[in-house]
Amino acid sequence: MSKPGSPSEPFLLTPGPLTTARATKEAMLRDWGSRDPDFIKLNAQIRERLVAIVGGQGTYVCVPVQGSGTFAVEATLGTLLPRAGAKALVLINGAYGTRMAKMLSIMGRPYAIYETAEDAPPDPAELDRRLAADPSLTHVLFVHCETTAGILNPLEKVADVVAKRGRRLIVDAMSAFGAIPIDSRKSAFDAVIASSNKNLEGVPGMGYAIIKKNALAAAKGNAHSLSLDLHDQWQGFEKNAQWRFTPPTHVIAAFAKALDLFDAEGGVAGRNARYAANCRILVDGMRALGFETLLPDHLQAPIIVTFRMPADPKFKFETFYESLKAQGYVIYPGKLTVADSFRMGCIGQLGATEMKGALDAVKTALKQLGVSACAPARAA
Ligand SMILES: *Cc1c(COP(=O)(O)O)cnc(C)c1O
Repeated sequence: MSKPGSPSEPFLLTPGPLTTARATKEAMLRDWGSRDPDFIKLNAQIRERLVAIVGGQGTYVCVPVQGSGTFAVEATLGTLLPRAGAKALVLINGAYGTRMAKMLSIMGRPYAIYETAEDAPPDPAELDRRLAADPSLTHVLFVHCETTAGILNPLEKVADVVAKRGRRLIVDAMSAFGAIPIDSRKSAFDAVIASSNKNLEGVPGMGYAIIKKNALAAAKGNAHSLSLDLHDQWQGFEKNAQWRFTPPTHVIAAFAKALDLFDAEGGVAGRNARYAANCRILVDGMRALGFETLLPDHLQAPIIVTFRMPADPKFKFETFYESLKAQGYVIYPGKLTVADSFRMGCIGQLGATEMKGALDAVKTALKQLGVSACAPARAA
């Protein structure tokens, strides 16, 4: 096995898949019978551990689904939104909010959108006005950390408004879950959705939703799809504790190990502390080189940081990317934001040493490019 941090196996400074622990990778070195009691037990434990992360024991149930995070989002929306009589308000400030609206279009579920700029969280007062103005709105769809720009959206405030107006909240918490506190006893939501390969530092292949039991029980027959029907998936687990269709066995075994490491680090608080320290090192170091972040610090989630593209024409992003990769660090190779920018993640099995190593690699790349000033172009 090569060593992470080398050109042949670079550290991933990306929003997931991300750099995983060796023990997590090693957990994939055995095969599991998907209907074997040991594997069934492993699944039951994982599902309970995920519910406990949001303090939902007794009232919530975790329903996993094969595929990436998007599959879990689509499955949750298709399962929880009735085919008739519901209308969703989608809060959008980036690509993942936009993606939920696209899913609803394809599924033929009615919706409206409340969109803000990619560097602006939704305003709870404006949300309140919109819910008051349209009684036909039944659900609010919200992205907790919008990974597009890396912005942290205000879950508790949004949840309070939605609850006060008697509507239902569904949260795409993909890049927040496990590193940003989410408490089902403080924020009323019907579902939070995440995946194996983000802050819990597993490998990709499984998404999951943590869904309020009574909302899920009422969702029979809503789904537009057999494989993405989370009510049916849940009923399968209730019946014999098994997946309906072939589960990603190795991904699940690795995820169980990743959860052990998560617990050993001190759960959400421990992971949040390491990611926040990583983010601080990255932002301070890049600012010292003249880079500017898209977001002010108070809106920045400690997950992924968006930097404005330097104005110097000698700064060629492709060359910059290749130089970092050759030094053992892979960053996100494209922009999702409207602003001209690039992103560097600070999640995964990375600590202060790796973040400082990445900054040294950035300095070397800038030298190679002949760039000494990294300030972005001024707005005209
Ligand atoms: C990663 C992510 C997803 C899911 O993306 P996949 O590529 O399907 O794993 C959804 N929402 C957010 C906010 C994300 O960060």
